[in-house]
Amino acid sequence: MVPAAREGGGPAPLASQSVSQPRSVLVTGGNRGIGRAIAEAFIAAGDKVAVTTRSGGAPEGALELKADITDPAAVEAAFAAAEEAHGPVEVLVANAGITKDTLVLRMSEEDWSSVIDTNLTASFRLAKRAAKGMLRQKKGRIIFISSVVGLLGSPGQVNYAASKAGLVGMARSLARELGPRSITANVVAPGYVDTDMTAVLSDEQKEGIRSQVPLGRYADPTEVAGAVLFLASPEAAYVTGAVIPVDGGLGMGH
Ligand code: NDP
Repeated sequence: MVPAAREGGGPAPLASQSVSQPRSVLVTGGNRGIGRAIAEAFIAAGDKVAVTTRSGGAPEGALELKADITDPAAVEAAFAAAEEAHGPVEVLVANAGITKDTLVLRMSEEDWSSVIDTNLTASFRLAKRAAKGMLRQKKGRIIFISSVVGLLGSPGQVNYAASKAGLVGMARSLARELGPRSITANVVAPGYVDTDMTAVLSDEQKEGIRSQVPLGRYADPTEVAGAVLFLASPEAAYVTGAVIPVDGGLGMGH
């Protein structure tokens, strides 16, 4: 049954979230890999895109913002610059992430904390800052890039898997907290994607992974971008707290 009328805190009409109005989009780590494909897809859709990076090289058409997301002041400055150029951030894609893989007994406190700081704590920082403007606007889309590994586990990735699993709990809590203001929070969980992050794997490791993926190949970064664009679209207005796998079937069942 479709609600007849909207009163108070109900969902905003779809028209107010139409992509015919360019949106202010912020993508962390939008200079390479998956983040770059996401930024390029939003640019192609006509949105106003700001990209954070430490090393530079944002795609053409994006506003490049130098920021280390583990630095709260740098994140604040990036949001201020994005807002000044494009208006309040309506779509946040928390994509930037790192790995520091090693077996648990060899994993140092630093291996643990640097991965948690970058992948999980910085995502909290970004979402909190984005929520400030979204709550005022009574609309917004928060999208976290997690990983199949967050739910499946992976030997040598205790730190990484914990950080990526943490994003699911965070997104679902945000979905409950911010839902009454028509703000959605979702997770995209890619499998193995052809980027610098996976380029370091040995041929043997790559083949081992490929053999477990029902689709028998790695993803192209644009295939992750497709799911992100959907979550940011008017068609996804009623999708929140979801974990969308883009993993060739690797994680099926979780
Ligand atoms: P890449 O290694 O290719 O790129 C990582 C990106 O994150 C870069 O843009 C990098 O910026 C940025 N970044 C890292 N640390 C920081 C930091 N402290 N501050 C600001 N930016 C930072 O990774 P992918 O494109 O492969 O991965 C993107 C996301 O997708 C990550 O969260 C990753 O965990 C996730 N993912 C990747 C998978 C894969 O198979 N590739 C599978 C599942 C999930 P800079 O260039 O400036 O260093």
